[in-house]
Amino acid sequence: MRKEKARILIVDDEKMNLKVLADLLKEEYSPVLARSGEQALQQAFGEAPPDLILLDVIMPEMGGYEVIKALKNSDKTNHIPVIFVTALNSIQDEERGLLLGAVDYITKPFSPPIVKMRVRNHLRIVHQYKLLDQLAHLDGLTEIPNRRRFEEVFHKEWARAARNGTPFSLAMVDVDFFKQFNDHYGHAMGDIALQRIAKALDCVLRRPGDLVARYGGEEFVMLLPETDAFAAYEVAQRCLQQVVGLAIPHQYSRAGETVTISIGLVTKGIDAITAPQIFIATADKNLYLAKENGRNRIVESVIG
Ligand SMILES: [Mg+2]
Repeated sequence: MRKEKARILIVDDEKMNLKVLADLLKEEYSPVLARSGEQALQQAFGEAPPDLILLDVIMPEMGGYEVIKALKNSDKTNHIPVIFVTALNSIQDEERGLLLGAVDYITKPFSPPIVKMRVRNHLRIVHQYKLLDQLAHLDGLTEIPNRRRFEEVFHKEWARAARNGTPFSLAMVDVDFFKQFNDHYGHAMGDIALQRIAKALDCVLRRPGDLVARYGGEEFVMLLPETDAFAAYEVAQRCLQQVVGLAIPHQYSRAGETVTISIGLVTKGIDAITAPQIFIATADKNLYLAKENGRNRIVESVIG
């Protein structure tokens, strides 16, 4: 989890209010200021979105209610907690603010320590939510992304490749004679082998967008967006070498003296039209062929 200060976007049309809140929070957090609803949205949709927003309601032109509606309407911003800080102090106003999706409602004039504590509490919830989300997407044994995470990223990257007209490659990886390994060396050793292989594959895939995930059992999947067949083959070859380089003894393998992997690789060309299920099934088929042809090898194919 990141260590830098949380970014808090403070939105208020009155300079004095901005100053008071910024002074109050700047020791623990990094405040970002906006003097209008428009500026607030620019910040929220910008390069470095805030972790939490303190939002005034009454502002000329775009008011706080409009701002929160825009934030809640977008996948990019709807998770950012919003606390209204406003002079509107009727029960109806508060109810309206909370109904629009605010996590809290503070009335002016506010008590500085209470603002501080509420901000802290909501940031703690955000932090815990992020941790839970990360855990839900990691494989417990190998600590690389799990299949669920793979499915999510795959569909996003698949759509992106189609939109941008870029090539796209995917590799299915399977550990050779892993059942024999477990049978002879025991499951604890098998787990250690899987952990080391996961780390080795992860080390090869280091470009932004690359992803290696545990697909299940002794099977891994590697996502290589914006990668043509030639480059994907090189990556796959390095993976094969890295695993051989681990030199994990495997006396019961018929593919070599040590643990090896087989890789089924598939690349979708720039103009190719195919369904994601067929794409993955092709990688599976190639993996099967790699096994049939003697293991510790890559079988590749290109669609389109
Ligand atoms: Mg105002």
